[in-house]
Amino acid sequence: MARNIKYIVIHCTAGPQDQTTAAIKNWWKTGLGWKSPGYHLLISADGSYERLAKDEEICNGVAGQNKHSIHISYKGGVDAKGKALDNRTDAQKKTLITLIKTMKSKYPNARVVGHRDFQGVKKDCPSFNAIKEYAGL
Ligand SMILES: [Zn+2]
Repeated sequence: MARNIKYIVIHCTAGPQDQTTAAIKNWWKTGLGWKSPGYHLLISADGSYERLAKDEEICNGVAGQNKHSIHISYKGGVDAKGKALDNRTDAQKKTLITLIKTMKSKYPNARVVGHRDFQGVKKDCPSFNAIKEYAGL
């Protein structure tokens, strides 16, 4: 069933840029005990992306906001010490724009926001100002 999408939420994995998708999925499943993926779309450092869930499915991106959200993430977003760092590659930036535009065309009324832009979120995810950067999309 089609969902009412209010938010296109941008994330980072807050892990190494070269982390495998299998390792990330394994963490969700065994580390966090999640039954659903954290994101619908996941972008690797080389700009390629994987779809981890259909739009119709609900992902675990932001507690309390998932019912009406699509979640897009890039691999990275922290330095070696785990501190927030916008280390998106040019390829990732390009793919982010492409995927956001695609989602905006499907859900014209949806707002593009970063994970950190929701009230009560104590994370820096996605380590850049998504509202500002994608205001024109
Ligand atoms: Zn996030």
